[in-house]
Amino acid sequence: MAEQLRLMAVHAHPDDESSKGAASAARYVAEGVDVLVVTCTGGERGSVLNPKMDRPEVLANIAEIRRAEMDAAREILGIRQEWLGFVDSGLPEGDPLPPLPEGCFALVDLEVATERLVRLIRQHRPHVMTTYDEEGGYPHPDHIRTHEVSVAAFEAAGDPDRFPEAGAPWQPLKLYYHMNFSKRKFVALYEAMVAAGIPAAAEYAKRIEEWGDDWDKSGRITTLVPCGDYLHLRDDALRAHATQVDPDGPWFHVPLELQKVAWPTEEFELARSLVDTTIPENDLFAGVRETLCCAEEPARS
Ligand SMILES: [Zn+2]
Repeated sequence: MAEQLRLMAVHAHPDDESSKGAASAARYVAEGVDVLVVTCTGGERGSVLNPKMDRPEVLANIAEIRRAEMDAAREILGIRQEWLGFVDSGLPEGDPLPPLPEGCFALVDLEVATERLVRLIRQHRPHVMTTYDEEGGYPHPDHIRTHEVSVAAFEAAGDPDRFPEAGAPWQPLKLYYHMNFSKRKFVALYEAMVAAGIPAAAEYAKRIEEWGDDWDKSGRITTLVPCGDYLHLRDDALRAHATQVDPDGPWFHVPLELQKVAWPTEEFELARSLVDTTIPENDLFAGVRETLCCAEEPARS
């Protein structure tokens, strides 16, 4: 029997797994891939972003509620999930920015955090890992730290001299960065909304104009994973994070049927590969499948 393919998606907070790469995760699960989400922090310092949930009793129990939300999203996506066990750094606001809270994820020694992730990599032995780019996808200190820890762990996990106490070496074969918020995608969705006469198109036009070109990373996309049939699971998982996502908010303004036609993929940048592959790709396991299927059993003497 062919070896089961394994994907590890490293995220900063509960809800990030549902807003970045969720439909492709659900697709890979449906195809029999073992998908493990690693959530670096508990999201304890996240604001309540859904006005319907902005109540004192919710704020008082936010850590517990976010764990329950994560459980629900995990079930919907069919993934497995592990906590890395660090505390949310919060998004600093103000001028000047306040210092980060003591003991938070972004301030934890990089080696300490890397060792924990290396331990999970060696335990679960993913063939492919995904994380954020060097800017974190957006400038939250936990997202940037998630990038740093993921890259360091990808490099260290296969090296027997690094963290020898953290399990037998295992080298993942590919590392990807999420590239969800390209301008190309928003323009495509906007144009489809205009063509369909959907009123929320005006709001998209405003956002596209405000963003300018600075945020556009379209040129970095190497890999478009078709996942149109799984977008509804992404939306259900997002709604499960009820403190973080307003069910009437902009996430859900583009009808699914329209998204399936206008933009039925999720995008990634191949950051590191130890297997041969050809860009552009449509599969995170391109080159990995071939390597595994053709690998000879090592000769035993
Ligand atoms: Zn986050």
